[in-house]
Amino acid sequence: MAPSTMLKQSLCLLAIALAAQSAPTDKAKGPNACRFMPNDPQWPSAKTWDALNKTVHGQLIATVPLAAPCHDSTAPKGGLSRDWPKYDQQKCTDLQERWLEPELQYVLQHIGTYHTPTDDHSDADPTSIMAPFFLSNETCNPFQPRAAACKIGVYSQYTINVTSSADVAAGLKFAEDNNVRLVIHNTGHDFAGKSSGAGSLSLWMHNLKDIEFIHWGDAHYTGKAVRIGAGVQGFEVNAAAHDQGLQVVTGECPTVGVAGGYTQGGGHSALSSRHGMAADQALQYEVVVPSGEVLIANRQRNSDLYWALSGGGGGTYGVVLSLTSKAHADVPTSGANLTFTSDNIDQDVYYAAIETFLSSLPASADAGVMSVFYFTAESFMIAPLTGPDVKASQLKEFLSPLMKKLEASNITYTSHFEDFGSYLEFYEAMFAPIPVVSLLRLQISRTLSMFTNFTPTRASLSTAEPSSPEMSPLTSPTTSSPPSAT
Ligand SMILES: Cc1cc2nc3c(=O)[nH]c(=O)nc-3n(C[C@H](O)[C@H](O)[C@H](O)COP(=O)(O)OP(=O)(O)OC[C@H]3O[C@@H](n4cnc5c(N)ncnc54)[C@H](O)[C@@H]3O)c2cc1C
Repeated sequence: MAPSTMLKQSLCLLAIALAAQSAPTDKAKGPNACRFMPNDPQWPSAKTWDALNKTVHGQLIATVPLAAPCHDSTAPKGGLSRDWPKYDQQKCTDLQERWLEPELQYVLQHIGTYHTPTDDHSDADPTSIMAPFFLSNETCNPFQPRAAACKIGVYSQYTINVTSSADVAAGLKFAEDNNVRLVIHNTGHDFAGKSSGAGSLSLWMHNLKDIEFIHWGDAHYTGKAVRIGAGVQGFEVNAAAHDQGLQVVTGECPTVGVAGGYTQGGGHSALSSRHGMAADQALQYEVVVPSGEVLIANRQRNSDLYWALSGGGGGTYGVVLSLTSKAHADVPTSGANLTFTSDNIDQDVYYAAIETFLSSLPASADAGVMSVFYFTAESFMIAPLTGPDVKASQLKEFLSPLMKKLEASNITYTSHFEDFGSYLEFYEAMFAPIPVVSLLRLQISRTLSMFTNFTPTRASLSTAEPSSPEMSPLTSPTTSSPPSAT
């Protein structure tokens, strides 16, 4: 079957699934009830898009693929469009080198103005996603030859830079009236590429950045809470909480959004052994439902919606404008890393050491310690243990059976244990952006063999197998002080 036919059929199935949420009117229905695509005659005209742009006060953005400077392609004809940047070898090389950095994908403008993000985040990119293999077919990637076509492909066609509930309501109505696919996009971290979609209109939540600390009181919870806009990311609310002497459950990865797919999908955190999952922290959502109405969902009001949003999956039940989450008193926090490989080690001995570590987990989790670890047949790394209100000496005790086992088995290892004055100090030292890149590399390198069309990383990722030195930043407590052997 031709790839384009397969793509259409997949989109058709997706459209049928979405129809359960907002069924298109008969008049707007496309062939086989699929959403209309840009090449369909029923696709909204430039005039219709322009009217939407006016409704949202000029906040409609026509997509320019991030990797456009690597190709000679130009903007598609018809509809609203922006000029695409011309081929630029230097910008293309920069893009190739930085393609796996989340910050490149969600912060920096496609034109190649690589600089520190502006305070108001106005230079963020609304369409890129961090699921690179979704970009291999009929989309624009920087690793294909200059002459290869750069298309909008799986990126959204247009994006509304959401600044209010009215923008969301306008997007929902437009998608419904014109039988256009709709997606919600926050940071683009979704591994499955759900925050993008071919032929879609995207609601970009990234610029809803309000953070407000409040007191919350109901039968379930009384105490400090934080109300955050849908676009707030982990590193932002962690810094704000620190200033208030508080700590908040966010992703280990600092750049993941908090109120979007993270909390709505459950959300694990370096603080999860102490406070639970992100969804456990949710006290209230402000949410736009498909009718355009804004609802408050908590344990008392619209409780079905509240429970559905608390772990039921991002982009499924409505468009969340804000989340109110529990905030906890900050505490001194310790961290630990430990790494070893199976080099010159009998495989059974290597796995026996890992088994010893796994046996230590129930006791450390009971003490509130969160353990992030990775292992393959060749290498093992703890990156890191998080000990909120737990001393580094206690972390050492939890890992003592492992270290004894390693020493008895003549396995060389590196480790590092450190006490920090606050959760933020720990977080900034142990969860620097480097692990994020490595995580993606790990994910991609594993999928390479399955996706023969996946060209971006054949050369660069071949060096990023889990056992390679490129993975070592995962074990570094800080970029400036490497782990010390103990
Ligand atoms: C590098 C990396 C590191 C990660 N680290 C962690 C981690 O430490 N802990 C963890 O639990 N997960 C982690 N994840 C997974 C991450 O939490 C999920 O991919 C999550 O869905 C990202 O949410 P987002 O809103 O930031 O991303 P997006 O990709 O923008 O959105 C994800 C989904 O949520 C929907 N959505 C977004 N905003 C809204 C909204 N306002 N209302 C309704 N729906 C919305 C989107 O439509 C999409 O379906 C990581 C992912 C990556 C790529």
